[in-house]
Amino acid sequence: MLLVGLTGGIGSGKSTVSSSLAARGAVVIDADAITRELQEPGQPVLAAMVERFGEGILCEDGRLDRQAVADLVFNDADALADLNAIVHPAVGAEIARRLEAEQGTGHIVILDVPLLIESGRDDVAALIVVDTDPEIAVRRLVEQRGFSEADARARISRQASRQERLARADFVIENNGSRAELAARIEECWDWLLAGAPRAAGAPRSE
Ligand code: ADP
Repeated sequence: MLLVGLTGGIGSGKSTVSSSLAARGAVVIDADAITRELQEPGQPVLAAMVERFGEGILCEDGRLDRQAVADLVFNDADALADLNAIVHPAVGAEIARRLEAEQGTGHIVILDVPLLIESGRDDVAALIVVDTDPEIAVRRLVEQRGFSEADARARISRQASRQERLARADFVIENNGSRAELAARIEECWDWLLAGAPRAAGAPRSE
């Protein structure tokens, strides 16, 4: 397999890029999707969360009330650390299991992990960064995804800076323009992946 990381700030267009790459045949391992799967009713992760935080984190139908969890850990570092200690190892183990299943295949595997840079993960052959002006990202999050402006700005400010991400990028998908421009850039990215994701000469990835 060719293992390539995909990252980008919230609202950058990362989900749009990962679904386009999946449609072309890439295997996408999506940490957010895995997290949601592991928090379904009946999963040990959800049971451990209820044990720690109480039934108040569940909706009436027994599913996780994400907003209730967000409210609990907001401004409570201990609660957040406990939440991460329950969720992160389980997600990490599931990602490892899926990567193991891809060993020895010829697949292009895209590791879609929101905090890939922050986590210091260094086993990817190359890194794709979706780069968007934060003001454009805020506008898209508010207009298309229903965020309040304050929430969008707060989430963006908690992430790695644009410069940190770009410094690590082997391929940058710039997404400040139209959807058609994005599609063209994704096509170039796919060609680069099919070529084995060669590093640009003279531009080694900074570790
Ligand atoms: P992320 O996964 O990085 O948070 P998304 O892929 O969900 O970002 O993109 C954020 C929003 O912006 C979505 O509603 C998406 O459809 C939209 N979007 C992405 N790229 C463009 C673009 N070039 N033009 C207009 N809207 C876009």
